[in-house]
Amino acid sequence: MASDSTLEIHCPACRWEPEVTSRWMCTCGCLWNTFDTAGVCPRCRHRWHDTQCLSCAAWAPHVDWYHGLDEQVAVLIEEALPASASARCTSHES
Ligand SMILES: [Zn+2]
Ligand SMILES: [Zn+2]
Repeated sequence: MASDSTLEIHCPACRWEPEVTSRWMCTCGCLWNTFDTAGVCPRCRHRWHDTQCLSCAAWAPHVDWYHGLDEQVAVLIEEALPASASARCTSHES
């Protein structure tokens, strides 16, 4: 891909870079690469606002993993995510 941006994805704590084969587990049991979906579980659509590092085990906001991204693009990523996922996550009573 010809991109002149310097976007990098790595852990804000230890600078570990996720690989294509890296997998995160959702509480629903789904295993997937969270950076393929901007933190949204492909099975239950739960949106993981924070992402845990597979190297140092620290949790950090998903957008904090993107470096070289200007703030406006980060906001666009946030807004592009389905709002229904976070709404479902906060509906404890029904
Ligand atoms: Zn880390
Ligand atoms: Zn899930």
